[in-house]
Amino acid sequence: MKDATRAVSAGRRPFDNHGVVNPPVYHASTVLYPTFEALKDSRNIAPGDGVTYGVHGTPGTFAFEEAVTALEGGFRTRLSVNGLMACTAPLLAFLSSGDHLLMVDSVYGPTRNFCQTMLKRMGVETTFYDPLVGGAIRDLILPNTKVVFLESPGSWTFEVQDVPAICEEAKARGCVTMIDNSWASPLYFKPFEHGVDVSIQAATKYIVGHSDALMGAVTCTEEVYPVLRDGWRDLGVGAAPDDVYLAMRGLRTLHVRLPKHWENGLKVAEWLMERPEVLEVIHPAMPGDAGHPLWQRDFLGASSLFGFVLKPEFASDACQTALLDELEHFGMGYSWGGYESLLIPVYPERLRSATDWPREGRPKGQTMRIHVGLEDTDDLIADLSAGFRRMNAAAE
Ligand SMILES: *Cc1c(COP(=O)(O)O)cnc(C)c1O
Repeated sequence: MKDATRAVSAGRRPFDNHGVVNPPVYHASTVLYPTFEALKDSRNIAPGDGVTYGVHGTPGTFAFEEAVTALEGGFRTRLSVNGLMACTAPLLAFLSSGDHLLMVDSVYGPTRNFCQTMLKRMGVETTFYDPLVGGAIRDLILPNTKVVFLESPGSWTFEVQDVPAICEEAKARGCVTMIDNSWASPLYFKPFEHGVDVSIQAATKYIVGHSDALMGAVTCTEEVYPVLRDGWRDLGVGAAPDDVYLAMRGLRTLHVRLPKHWENGLKVAEWLMERPEVLEVIHPAMPGDAGHPLWQRDFLGASSLFGFVLKPEFASDACQTALLDELEHFGMGYSWGGYESLLIPVYPERLRSATDWPREGRPKGQTMRIHVGLEDTDDLIADLSAGFRRMNAAAE
């Protein structure tokens, strides 16, 4: 079966529900058992294996989990209330006091913060590593390293990691590998084909796709599933039924939206590349990008979140105001993956600790993060063009 068919079909059982096409929304905390016998038996049902209590999921939850697994690969999926918790809860589930964590330096900022605050207080030591480390990760693995965490391409800087090389070295030394796979979505990178044990989706982004719900999904192999399942039970991780419904609705059209995002993103990236204001476009699907060879080897497509670097003379607040405040189609805001375009300045140099940004030998300037939506690219380019005109005037 191909992904488009999976996206449409997985998790649907209409004739369990009067023929209604979509899995219904069950609101539940209490779940009743008809007999004492059934109440007793329920103790043998693992969380997620049946409807036992609201937090462990309802039929809508299980349907969405099944659909994510069908696309992502792996054995089972569990949901969390948002993408950040889909990053933090597996770390809590798999790590203990005294363990060591290898975390990619280009990780999503709030995941980094979690390592530096709560995990640190819990006695877990984190070493941030160069996203481009490749197989040399072996030199960073300590006897107590339990987890190697990847995100590819990384947040803000879009460096592509050599996932198979890192996972091979990690696995040979008994570490669990986790990847934040939100950029590619389950369609454009298949983590379990590259040796990953745990894959994380901020489903808030492309899966929900309409900027109106938060959702996290964590998929893993059969081997490590018991640790994930028990972590979910111990922490009380879950997702709200109405949000699950919206995420499922989004997932049904993911394979139609993403190719358009990919195409629109490339058109805008190509236009930016020709602009005199722009030093560099950071988009792994662009030939010439440092991450392009790995992207070409491992990915099935590209989403529409990428970066570009403006010349240093456009870094002032006055220039940023001139560019951003009057854009008609690009909003300024966090998150991404919805149908609409976004543009913000970002400051990777304030976060990174293992590596410099810009990387050695790369030009210095204001880094921008752009999310290209489903508008017509002629309109988007005209909007940016007018913004660059205002920015040039402000720089004079
Ligand atoms: C947004 C994001 C998250 C967190 O998702 P939320 O649902 O907003 O909590 C995690 N990882 C990456 C890469 C993200 O971009």
